[in-house]
Amino acid sequence: MSYDDGSEHDRRLVEMFNRWEIKGTFNLNSGKLNQPHHIAMQEVQDLYRGHEVACHTVNHPDLTHLSIADIRREIEQDRAVLEALTGQAVRGLAYPFGTYDERIVQLLPELGIEYARTASSTQDFRLPETLAAWQPTTHHQNAWALGEQFLQSMSSQLQVLSIWGHSYELDGFMTGDASKNWQFMESVCQLLHGQDAVHYTTTIDLMDYVVALRWATWSSSNRQLRNPSRSSLWLDWRGHLMEIPPGQAAVLV
Ligand SMILES: [Zn+2]
Repeated sequence: MSYDDGSEHDRRLVEMFNRWEIKGTFNLNSGKLNQPHHIAMQEVQDLYRGHEVACHTVNHPDLTHLSIADIRREIEQDRAVLEALTGQAVRGLAYPFGTYDERIVQLLPELGIEYARTASSTQDFRLPETLAAWQPTTHHQNAWALGEQFLQSMSSQLQVLSIWGHSYELDGFMTGDASKNWQFMESVCQLLHGQDAVHYTTTIDLMDYVVALRWATWSSSNRQLRNPSRSSLWLDWRGHLMEIPPGQAAVLV
């Protein structure tokens, strides 16, 4: 789950995710915190505990209209404030309005941003390819249909279901009937929760795993799979779940 803007409705949504043991990433504009109908700075750490807090820039501009210096300021300052509030490293970004260009993509590594989410949807369950312009699966208005499809399509292949939106949309924007929208979200969580074959994760943990997969190397005999990353890798080997701890290799026979 990836939700933007830090509106006051995040409180209700986080409570729902916690109840169904579903993980979220919350992309916050530090300049909007403490504003009317937004989350207060002093509640950020407690509210989002167990989830990920990521950048969404200070003021929510369309970054493609800004100079490099202003883009840098919007991301750098947002990240600094969010790190101070959470006491955690902040390594992700959601582009305001989903818009980005090559200048911004080039800038991300030096700003400490390891992935950036767009606002377009793949409508499928492939692993992220371009981390600097990551497309999630679907906006939450299609979450039920895609959720059902995801559960039905499970195989030994690793697949991702990622849902994005704004919690304020649930308070009227989607159907105009807030209680229906919240009920819809509740049923999406109910559908998806507690599945043995599903790992519930934040976006940054997913990205760490995707990067670890890319680093994995086979020996020349193709029998040894080496994991030089700092995350455990998991594979389905002849029907058994096998862990390859960080820095170790598995011999597959
Ligand atoms: Zn936004």
